[in-house]
Amino acid sequence: MKLERVFQNNEKWIKDKLSNDPEYFNDLGKGQKPELLFIGCSDSRVTSEELMGLGPGEVFVHRNIANMVTGTDLNVMSVVEYAVIHLKVKHVIVCGHYACGGVKAAMQSADLGILNPWLRNIRDVYRIHKTELNNIDDEEKKYDRLVELNVQEQCVNLIKTAAIQKASRERGLTVHGWVFDVNTGKLIDLKIDFENILKSIREIYHLD
Ligand SMILES: [Zn+2]
Repeated sequence: MKLERVFQNNEKWIKDKLSNDPEYFNDLGKGQKPELLFIGCSDSRVTSEELMGLGPGEVFVHRNIANMVTGTDLNVMSVVEYAVIHLKVKHVIVCGHYACGGVKAAMQSADLGILNPWLRNIRDVYRIHKTELNNIDDEEKKYDRLVELNVQEQCVNLIKTAAIQKASRERGLTVHGWVFDVNTGKLIDLKIDFENILKSIREIYHLD
């Protein structure tokens, strides 16, 4: 890929935007008020705004390997705090995807250096759901299911934070778990039962 192409694309994009709306960039420069926080995988196929048909200013985005929400990761926790407390987003989405290299790596026993502690969080998801996963004989189906369960557990990790608990109590913020199917382009809502998870984990993780 020639990098010049990127700058040519950018010039064309500016022209397209201005031909639809001459004030487009003046408005964009005034600030942001996104209603969604999207936590997705860094995978080049999971393009957040594009796959949702949304544009600049509409989504606050964080992406990392395998869309993880780890309580000790200052990066993701800062994004959640800023989006929820300051930008006051209405929905927080964890979006995984089938054929996720990070999830696949966690199912194998290779030593991947600095990636080991990161992928260990996915192995923890496997351990929590070991009975269900070990009962799936088809390797591909098991892999797909781990992708879904990983999304679910990262939603649980979000619900453990004070920012999410407070915003859900005070202004009805909700957490959603989605999976992007890279084979069909379809976005699937896993319909995670936010209210019930919140109730069931409150006993241990409740923060005032
Ligand atoms: Zn991935």
